[in-house]
Amino acid sequence: MGFRRLLGNDQLKQNLTNALHSGHISHFYLISGPAGSGRHTLARLLAAAILCPGQQKPCMGCSTCRKVMADTHPDFITVNDPTHKTIPVDMLRDMREDLFIRPNEAAHKIYMIDQEMRTEGQNALLKVLEEPPKYGVFILITDNAESLLPTVRSRCTPLQLQPLPEKTLLQALQSEFPNATGDDLRAAAVRSCGFLGQAKKLLDGSVAVAPQTENFVKSFSQRDPLLLVQTLVPMEKWKRDQMIPTLQHWLELLEGALSCRAGMPGVDPLSRTLSANRSSQDLMQAISCLQKAIEYAQGNVSIAAVCGYLSWTLR
Ligand SMILES: [Zn+2]
Repeated sequence: MGFRRLLGNDQLKQNLTNALHSGHISHFYLISGPAGSGRHTLARLLAAAILCPGQQKPCMGCSTCRKVMADTHPDFITVNDPTHKTIPVDMLRDMREDLFIRPNEAAHKIYMIDQEMRTEGQNALLKVLEEPPKYGVFILITDNAESLLPTVRSRCTPLQLQPLPEKTLLQALQSEFPNATGDDLRAAAVRSCGFLGQAKKLLDGSVAVAPQTENFVKSFSQRDPLLLVQTLVPMEKWKRDQMIPTLQHWLELLEGALSCRAGMPGVDPLSRTLSANRSSQDLMQAISCLQKAIEYAQGNVSIAAVCGYLSWTLR
């Protein structure tokens, strides 16, 4: 069975399978990728593979695999506190104590650390990382590996999730949303930047239009440079994987507005607002600004500089 349940990421799955097959289990894994990229699926599959007594690990058929996937295995422990933004340091200290109690029924005891840690928490974790008991395994999950101390990162086996190839993503979406149109599926695939979880959220409507997008449409339609700056300044702190799909959405809306001005029916209501208020020439200018901004964001330009560029060129 192996890691099939995680789509794409073939190289990563092959490397893990080879390592586990030769009995090589790391004490620390660092899974990184944006929300919706399969981080928790990978963490559970990895834990199941480490604990599974079967031949093709994870076999997904034995009670160990089933319990890990259902989060009910006593030796697979999730460490997080939904009531806080970061893991309280006490929780990590408790984990350190718990670690020295031997596993219940498996040969390993696995902790999935599923929340960002402040420096103090990372230092508490470092003490464990320096000298873990043989059976201890830690799986850290983050959307930004750079936010971890280099001393923590250097001790971990990195597992970085990649966007899915378009074909794989579209196939997965098609089977989950058989009633959606091809256009909707493709739009969700583009806006998700290749991450299945995000594409699903876009399709099932659990993500509404971002308030930034509404404000962008409003400011550009009403020629309101102040609102534009007020929208863009908080976005300076955004991560690339949040910024790029948002700008791609804005670009799509502008392109839709241009088609609307050319008399094409059935465009997004936000595109209709843009087309009712701005000329084709304005829209074309904005489209080329957005294309440049996306290019910058995909390159090495800082997100703050991209926001600055947009507030200057779109005002
Ligand atoms: Zn199994």
